[in-house]
Amino acid sequence: MSSETHIHVSDIPPEGLFLNFSELAKVIPEIDEYCSVSHADGRLEIHKSASEIKISGWVRGRLELTCDRCLNSFASDVETSFFYLLKPSREFHRELKPDHELSRDEIDVYWYEDGEIRAEDLFREQIVLQLPMRLLCSPGCKGICPGCGEDLNLSKCRCKEAKNHGPFAVLAGIKTV
Ligand SMILES: [Zn+2]
Ligand SMILES: [Zn+2]
Repeated sequence: MSSETHIHVSDIPPEGLFLNFSELAKVIPEIDEYCSVSHADGRLEIHKSASEIKISGWVRGRLELTCDRCLNSFASDVETSFFYLLKPSREFHRELKPDHELSRDEIDVYWYEDGEIRAEDLFREQIVLQLPMRLLCSPGCKGICPGCGEDLNLSKCRCKEAKNHGPFAVLAGIKTV
């Protein structure tokens, strides 16, 4: 277990650096307001050659998500492996010419700044990449009725009922007397 998530490039030995992280929820408790990390662990294997850094790793854990339709929270497991190629940001800026367009390969390259790699940024990004476009507690979630606000997964819409027992129901009753 490593509690230090900021890795200094100068600390990477020739044989590589192998790090296990068992309490990632402490460093990335929240992805955004709809997604928090209940617990997660991960591993990084870091190799340095000249100025390039190759990182392979994995992250797995449990997320607490908010359903887009019914706003209830639900748990979801996440597990993924990944690979990064990093170059120092200074080198990149020097190479970049004014009319230079990024090639596909270059877009996949990441840059580290100040001689430091922030492991939590890599893990956070990998978790974000695993999130679906729509967060749903189940594929068939019925959501919340916009009229009565009832969670339609748990109970029936009360819109009709509200009409029968609303202020106009009293008037209707008077009429019939
Ligand atoms: Zn839902
Ligand atoms: Zn309703």
